[in-house]
Amino acid sequence: MKKLIVASNNKHKISEIKQILKNFPFQILSLQEAGINIEVDENGSTFEENAHIKAIEIFKALGKRHAVLADDSGLMVDILNGEPGVYSARYFGVHGNDKENNEKLLSNLKGVEFEKRKAHFVCAIELILDEKIIIDVQGDVEGYIIEEERGIDGFGYDPLFYVPRFNKTFAEITSEEKNSISHRGEALRKLEEKVKDYLQEVK
Ligand code: IMP
Repeated sequence: MKKLIVASNNKHKISEIKQILKNFPFQILSLQEAGINIEVDENGSTFEENAHIKAIEIFKALGKRHAVLADDSGLMVDILNGEPGVYSARYFGVHGNDKENNEKLLSNLKGVEFEKRKAHFVCAIELILDEKIIIDVQGDVEGYIIEEERGIDGFGYDPLFYVPRFNKTFAEITSEEKNSISHRGEALRKLEEKVKDYLQEVK
């Protein structure tokens, strides 16, 4: 079976990706599982640019021998003009400090009423199948940033992201429920369709 390396070591992301792409005709591996130890400088100004930067760098590092999937995602809050956006992972300054990022977000939204706390998660994915076949997809999901964390599952801003459809935050619902509506779920389902079409064409 062909290998597909996910350009990330974020355990939550990887497990969401593996779960959603369980029928994908590839063996899915994280960077760590593929024995790659590279910090990619995500210096793009959009999610799409960053997904491309990560995908291409890892594809080259693997000698262009394996397919690579890169996900760049984040939270955009309307009243904060789209912040934290591409800085979602390092909003507070240090990469991946979820607790401090959430505190900074709450402090920037202090006093803002519920209806004005609208936000959406965005996910841009790039899949490099080989040097010629590159597939880009995007997904997003809308919700509201509540005033304090609720729930213990998930990662990042999940405990603050409330979805009216479930009347719960992303950290209070099951991973199946989250995947069924999330930005990453939507992007990965689009990707699956595009890959299916491609595999039909080359048959
Ligand atoms: P990336 O790994 O550079 O794409 O950064 C993504 C950052 O956006 C994460 O560190 C989280 O802070 C946030 N994020 C992206 N997707 C999610 C999600 O599904 N739930 C919660 N936070 C997310």
